[in-house]
Amino acid sequence: MNLIFMGPPGAGKGTQSKIVMNRLNIPQISTGDILRESIESQSELGIKAKEYMDAGNLVPDEVVIGIIEERISNDDCENGFILDGFPRTTEQANALDKMLPQKGMKINNVVYFDVPENELVERMLERSKKEGRADDNLESVKNRLEVFKSKTQPLIDYYEEKSILTKIDGVGNIDEISEKVKLKIGA
Ligand code: AMP
Repeated sequence: MNLIFMGPPGAGKGTQSKIVMNRLNIPQISTGDILRESIESQSELGIKAKEYMDAGNLVPDEVVIGIIEERISNDDCENGFILDGFPRTTEQANALDKMLPQKGMKINNVVYFDVPENELVERMLERSKKEGRADDNLESVKNRLEVFKSKTQPLIDYYEEKSILTKIDGVGNIDEISEKVKLKIGA
């Protein structure tokens, strides 16, 4: 099963995608994690991405599209994968729609986690205390929410029109939400 986990920053898509990864034994592919690892290792990609990420802006489309194209070609994606945080723009979604058929793949389900904005801000600031993510400061958090609204939110309609969107109320504890995901995607 090929899945996309989508939602505003702080909606819990990372946590939930890791649970499904273990349950279905398919890789979870987080562009955010891949980019953070590149920053850590000070690779060329990391150096390019850091400024965008720290400010809460999106990394250019061609960069993340390249990352995904390479990653889903790995053998471990043969039985399925979960995209966590990709696509985030219409251009990325179009690129995915082009590359998947070429590999004999398609997306089965797009899971969207719905969480009200005030709760998102609280969660991200809480996370910054625990994980110390450079982009979890108030200014960057606010910008990431704006970027989500303008660039990523339109993808909800895009996938709804394709009849593959599943909306999940993302308020509640991790287990409750994970049960809802299980019921909705049937796995
Ligand atoms: P995340 O861990 O998914 O919240 O992503 C953290 C940051 O990485 C984002 O604020 C962006 O700067 C960058 N990023 C992650 N995924 C993407 C993507 N699909 N397109 C552009 N930038 C991304």
